[in-house]
Amino acid sequence: MGCCGGTASACAYCGGHAATIDHVQPRSRGGADSWENLVACCQRCNNTKGDRTPQEMSWQLRVIPRPPRGAHWTVRGIDRADPRWEPYLALAA
Ligand SMILES: [Zn+2]
Repeated sequence: MGCCGGTASACAYCGGHAATIDHVQPRSRGGADSWENLVACCQRCNNTKGDRTPQEMSWQLRVIPRPPRGAHWTVRGIDRADPRWEPYLALAA
């Protein structure tokens, strides 16, 4: 059972293969570690976006962050994050 199957593996910005998790509002800009602020993202978009917001990049989110379904989506705060998210959160930090 993989963590990134189905639609969750599509990049929220370009629809490509998501390899990481992106903070829509960067943490350095006050973005939260909540599901409302986390989207799947490919490495290319993640690198391009950096510390900017989608609005600053004129990027349209292809997916709207939605309430989690299933225990593995429990990402309400960094202290409550599922251990499987830690590599992604570290990458996005
Ligand atoms: Zn992308």
